[in-house]
Amino acid sequence: MVDKLKEEIQDSNNEFANKKKIISFPHLGNYYIPIYFLLSRLVGNSEILIPPKMTKKTMELGEKYSPDFVCTPFKYNMGNFIESLDKGANVLIQAGGGCRFGYYAELQEQILHDLGYNFTFITLFDAKGVNIFKVYNKFKIINPKLKKIKFSYHFLLTIKMIDILDDLEESIRKKVAYEVNKGEFDKIHSKLLLELKSVKNLIQLYKFKNKYKWILENVKLEDKESKLKVGIVGELYTTMEQFSSFFLERELAKMNVEVKRYTTATYLLFEKFREEKKLIKSANNYIKYALGADGTESVAHSKEMCEMGYDGIIHVKPFGCTPEINAMPILQKISKDYNIPIIHFTFDMQTSETGVKTRLEAFYDMLKMKKEAEKCLKTI
Ligand code: SF4
Repeated sequence: MVDKLKEEIQDSNNEFANKKKIISFPHLGNYYIPIYFLLSRLVGNSEILIPPKMTKKTMELGEKYSPDFVCTPFKYNMGNFIESLDKGANVLIQAGGGCRFGYYAELQEQILHDLGYNFTFITLFDAKGVNIFKVYNKFKIINPKLKKIKFSYHFLLTIKMIDILDDLEESIRKKVAYEVNKGEFDKIHSKLLLELKSVKNLIQLYKFKNKYKWILENVKLEDKESKLKVGIVGELYTTMEQFSSFFLERELAKMNVEVKRYTTATYLLFEKFREEKKLIKSANNYIKYALGADGTESVAHSKEMCEMGYDGIIHVKPFGCTPEINAMPILQKISKDYNIPIIHFTFDMQTSETGVKTRLEAFYDMLKMKKEAEKCLKTI
């Protein structure tokens, strides 16, 4: 295995020795900032190309060149890759991972080669999770001079950056519904992302964290009583890449709804593998075994949020996502047992944005009426 990897590195080095490498990767929410940071520190003289912003064109390209029944995130990734290759990228990085996602890379590579693109494809993680030594060896393909110490420092710094970004964004999701001056959190979020791009080292990262924690803590908020609290559960890509769910969280913020979402890159990379057994145990009236991918989390977190008094749950999934399809009947049972409404949204390339918004508005109205009716009953 190690020999094979060494051979792979050797071959790749020979092939790319005299060629300028232009490296790109698919989008996933705002994580392009830490990914860019990591690559820019580790890949030597190579150029890094952030894929163009997701648009309808990304969707159309992804759909056109992907198998019909493949999971929707595969199609989005394909769209990103094609747009990057068209802009000159010749090295593509795919995270890899569990579920069918773990097989995306081979298939995407094959399709893109068949389309006539000339590039090297690198998958960082395997289904067993993050192995820092394997990731280091993958980076050596791009930059043979990369030292372990430099890699380790920047890898750990990037993890910290992701962790801080997740924390700050979670705080925004939680508070945005209560802002007194409408649009204030939006402005802070944009500034925060811009400033994160200029962070260069650990000291700057901690200064950035403390600054924005303080700013977020000092935004003037309204009274908490009257607002709705909604949890978002479901498949990882659809929950984290807002473009793929028509910016569901932004729509909820406009309706002044407090949002809780557990799925973040920090959770997936470093907590998920420890949490699964605990989640099965906590949801043991509903599941005995892991449902695969994020299905277990969807069930356990929905139950948890029902017990915490959330007003409703939104379950999101891409078309054809088997683990989340398995979770659906269980979520219906949870909804019935706790008398908390759960709505399911399935996204694919044909999903109508208007349809999603209309259903979301109807869900909001229903939750609002339910909350008011419960309040009236308490006063009688
Ligand atoms: S979790 Fe769902 S969408 Fe993601 S790879 Fe698995 S089946 Fe596909």
